[in-house]
Amino acid sequence: MAKVPRCVVEAGDGLLARAQGRVVHVRSDDDALALEWLAALTPHLGSWAALVREAASRVAAAGYAGDPTVVMIDLEGEHTSAFVHGPVSVAVDLPQGSVQLDGASAARWVERELPWAATGVCIGIASPADDPTLPLDASGGVRIAAAQVFPSPVVGPGQVAAVHCADAHANPPDATVCRVCGVGLSVPAAVSVVERPVLGVLAFDDGRSIELRQPCLLGRRPPAECVIDGEPALSVMIDDDHHHVSQRHLELRMVGWEVHAVDLGSTNGTLHRSISTNRVTRLSPGQPAVLGAGDQLLLGRRLLTFH
Ligand SMILES: [Zn+2]
Repeated sequence: MAKVPRCVVEAGDGLLARAQGRVVHVRSDDDALALEWLAALTPHLGSWAALVREAASRVAAAGYAGDPTVVMIDLEGEHTSAFVHGPVSVAVDLPQGSVQLDGASAARWVERELPWAATGVCIGIASPADDPTLPLDASGGVRIAAAQVFPSPVVGPGQVAAVHCADAHANPPDATVCRVCGVGLSVPAAVSVVERPVLGVLAFDDGRSIELRQPCLLGRRPPAECVIDGEPALSVMIDDDHHHVSQRHLELRMVGWEVHAVDLGSTNGTLHRSISTNRVTRLSPGQPAVLGAGDQLLLGRRLLTFH
């Protein structure tokens, strides 16, 4: 049985995107810059050649400045390819030993193709950190249809108005196809009030993910118990050795079938990258932003993706 290649990164340092056996890691002191580069590279994860072309053109356009640092690894197949730019080092573990690639040693970037399958990759640090370990076969997750806006009838906490498909999957009242099985929904359909289903999944950059079925309070040290919109909320602790994440940083509110992100006046703020507008904006404290499938939130150096 083939070994599952592993990628180990320093917790919270830099931004990571991955799909199957490819990894992109971007790091800068300017978080918005790092997020912009990651957003530009992520669509090319399906092709190593396209990834390298995009990274090379961006590095050239930026004048080979080394900011942000870019590390890309391709672990698909029986070889290992690497692209390293800027002051960052990468250790690629191979059956016959480890190969060190140092971006600072090159005027432009280091690009290597090693004719062996790597058993592990370590970015930025000489020896693997304790955690987190990210299995690369865990892809970005399955996207579900974005929640839709609809005129909401009166529903209690933890409930939503819904129409049902023939298999009894709950859907927003204005849905035309089932969000679970894809079957067409008859219009008009009887609307009923049901317990709120899972509205999405929040995937963390360390591989952790949570299903969103109730409001959440996210932070470095959130209170153990809290109530949002009259409902018990889930406390989600976010590890951050750099203390860029506030103790109480962000609320996720369940509004009908939508998930709203609300910055709680955090010290370093929250960046929101919207898939629908293709823009990165800083959340105004207290002002809700509707999350769509694929949207990303950056809290300090921690990247959260909503599916
Ligand atoms: Zn269905």
